[in-house]
Amino acid sequence: AKENGRNSYQFYTEGMQDREVRRLELDKDLATALEQDQFVLHLQPQLDLNTMEVNSAEALIRWQHPQRGLIPPFEFIPLAEESGRITDIGRWVVMAACRQLAAWRDGPLSRMKIAINLSGRELDNEDLVDHIQRALTLFQVDASRLEVELTEEIFIQNIERNRNQLKRLHDLGVLLAIDDFGVGYSSLAYLRDFPVDLLKIDRSFITNITECPDDAIITRAVTNLAHNLGVKVVAEGVETEEQLEFLKNLNCDVVQGYLISRPVEATQLEILLRDNPRF
Ligand code: C2E
Ligand code: CA
Ligand code: CA
Ligand code: CA
Repeated sequence: AKENGRNSYQFYTEGMQDREVRRLELDKDLATALEQDQFVLHLQPQLDLNTMEVNSAEALIRWQHPQRGLIPPFEFIPLAEESGRITDIGRWVVMAACRQLAAWRDGPLSRMKIAINLSGRELDNEDLVDHIQRALTLFQVDASRLEVELTEEIFIQNIERNRNQLKRLHDLGVLLAIDDFGVGYSSLAYLRDFPVDLLKIDRSFITNITECPDDAIITRAVTNLAHNLGVKVVAEGVETEEQLEFLKNLNCDVVQGYLISRPVEATQLEILLRDNPRF
């Protein structure tokens, strides 16, 4: 038994070491990832339930690692936040999104918007708003084509500074969305104190919405509240037709999730929107 215990203990620490080694290696590789252009934005369409058209897509970053293949954001965004590299990654995301909007400007997707994700750490950079303005100007993209999704940490830490940054961004014409609404602190004061255009209801309320009355009641109440404040509602993680119908009946404005499409490369999104009669 002692032997066993010792072996399993060793196995456990090796597992932890492996993970730590992988983390350290990834962090080292992150330093060169930008120089070598290893990031890519995948786009997930958002369906407007009023028009049944896709007029926007969320940009979700992936890392095409030369040895490890496609790495999802949860494996490197937290690392990049710790090391501070997130600032440069965020700048790259802004540029890449504006470049994509510019590529669409004169074609059938000229009305598309792109929503990017920005974490609290990225707002630490006082130059962020100027950088976004420069990117919009460089690619001659209308600010109203760009949305920024923010999670709640932005509304509870460095409130004065963040409100300032977000007001400047909003004054440019960029749309602001609260991401993952309903998990975490969810203070209604954000809706009063920040210039919010959209509220994204977290997937955890949508997953069981057709079976769980509480989730439906909360989603309905949040939607009504948002609408009364002039804020549009996006439901995240919609995976079934039943959920879509349900959300339509709750007057939800936009749905996003695997039912419409997984996040895909831009060229795939173009094909999807061209060939799918639904949109
Ligand atoms: P998020 O902003 O909440 O993004 C939604 C996540 O849910 C995405 O995961 C998306 O692929 C996934 N998803 C979408 N529809 C469905 C669905 O119907 N069912 C299920 N089960 N999942 C769905 P992903 O791409 O792995 O991104 C994870 C998180 O990484 C994002 O959560 C966001 O917080 C962060 N992230 C992604 N891109 C960026 C970025 O460019 N910058 C920053 N700072 N964070 C990013
Ligand atoms: Ca998001
Ligand atoms: Ca989200
Ligand atoms: Ca999330």
